[in-house]
Amino acid sequence: THTGHTSVRRPTDGSLKVSDDLPPLQHYIGGEFVDGETDSFTDIVDPSTETVITRIPEGTAADVDRAVVAAVAAKPDWARLVPKQRSEILHRIADRLEQNSEILARLESANTGKPFEVSNDDVAGAIDTFRFMAGALRATTSLSAGDYAEHHLSLILREPLGVVGVVTPWNYPLLMAAWKLAPILAAGNTVVIKPSEQTPLTTLKFAELVGDLLPAGVLNVVTGLGASVGARLTEHPDLDMIALTGSVGSGKAVARGAAESLKRVHLELGGKAPVVIFADADLDDAAVSLRAASYWNSGQECGAACRILVHESVADAFVDKLVAQVATFVVGEPAVGDVEIGPLVSKAHYDRVAGYLERAAQQGITAAIGGAPLDGPGYFVAPTVLVGVPDGAECAREEIFGPVVTVETFTDEDDAIRRANDVPFGLSASVWTENARRSHDVAARIDAGTVWVNSHLVLANEVPWGGFKGSGYGRDLSVYALDEYSRTKHIMHNHGR
Ligand code: NAD
Repeated sequence: THTGHTSVRRPTDGSLKVSDDLPPLQHYIGGEFVDGETDSFTDIVDPSTETVITRIPEGTAADVDRAVVAAVAAKPDWARLVPKQRSEILHRIADRLEQNSEILARLESANTGKPFEVSNDDVAGAIDTFRFMAGALRATTSLSAGDYAEHHLSLILREPLGVVGVVTPWNYPLLMAAWKLAPILAAGNTVVIKPSEQTPLTTLKFAELVGDLLPAGVLNVVTGLGASVGARLTEHPDLDMIALTGSVGSGKAVARGAAESLKRVHLELGGKAPVVIFADADLDDAAVSLRAASYWNSGQECGAACRILVHESVADAFVDKLVAQVATFVVGEPAVGDVEIGPLVSKAHYDRVAGYLERAAQQGITAAIGGAPLDGPGYFVAPTVLVGVPDGAECAREEIFGPVVTVETFTDEDDAIRRANDVPFGLSASVWTENARRSHDVAARIDAGTVWVNSHLVLANEVPWGGFKGSGYGRDLSVYALDEYSRTKHIMHNHGR
């Protein structure tokens, strides 16, 4: 056992200050910031210091209804623009984000505790999503025409779906908003978005920064809780679709709530990515790559490489290499600058992760490094590798969503695949081997929307992202996302006699 991290690095010249960067703390409806119906508010907390940054309005069903009226009214004119016109606006949004990238990263780090390395990557990713969709919409909205029945000319059109409701999580507030908003707007829809009640600042800042680039009512933001604002978006009869990135429980609530109005549903839910390491893998390379892929965003990542399945003959050697990597992390407040692991997002989430660690210890599972929370203030947990994890253990089946990796061993290829698939999730996975036949065969047999070979967590806007099984359905990113937010119409002309 390695002692690992025992303390949190604190900045010498004060924690992050964002009071000058805050957006208006109101809903954004019909092109302006407006007060909510009631004066209930939610505190927004800096998880590195446990101080209250500000408070945001707790929206109501009536606030949602006002936003939907604005989005419905804006729909015809927005949908009528030709691709080039919408594309130009999306490019201008990307430029505006780029001009304000430092402010956005600072707000994101203050609200979530993200190290700047992660916030900067999120902002750059959000900008690229708008640029990609600005181009993709022009390349893919061309119409298909032909005679497929005698004397009948068919036109196949991609139409906007209409008005889309979006609900986003706290782990990538700006990036998940961009993953939804860019293809939704590109495809010609108007939108009402509800950010996580814990991390609404960058979504409101986005509305403040780009609001003047869009016709009033095309983009609307209502802040508040899932059970009220999220539920009203889900059931609202005038919305054509609801897209959620969040937990499995919220996904089920949305699928149920959307049934009555038969709106289209897109669910990006949790993950528990299996990482299958064969004896012939390059173990040094795997340990270095997994240092990043397992602990990125302090492990609060739906695709995190958190469930390692390693061949029994190389398990000890691999764990030694991984532990040596994890020991080098810098843990601390984002304001320190070169920090790689920040706090977890909230007290509730910190207690949840600490609970998983306590129960694992009670079950006789040992930590090769880490294994416990660190002293506050702030919701810090030491980066952890759990070893000797038996088949079916809770910590290896459930999404912990923190800097915690479990290591199990397997005997042969069939054993590895059975265990890899034996979780309710199917978002992502990776296979580590130098054998080309095996890498392809195992990748094909793993039930996950993304499988990396000798890599993990690398993404680009050109490739689709989304899950199988309990991880939901629908795809973010790539031209597949444009399909999600479009409907296909066929018009047939009889030109015979
Ligand atoms: P969460 O489900 O608690 O909250 C997500 C959002 O859903 C929040 O805005 C919340 O207010 C809202 N919500 C909650 N109940 C709702 C309801 N009944 N109706 C409508 N909306 C409701 O999830 P979280 O804790 O914010 O985020 C972490 C989860 O998100 C993890 O499970 C993670 O795996 C998942 N996630 C998935 C992806 C992906 O791409 N698949 C990406 C990021 C996060």
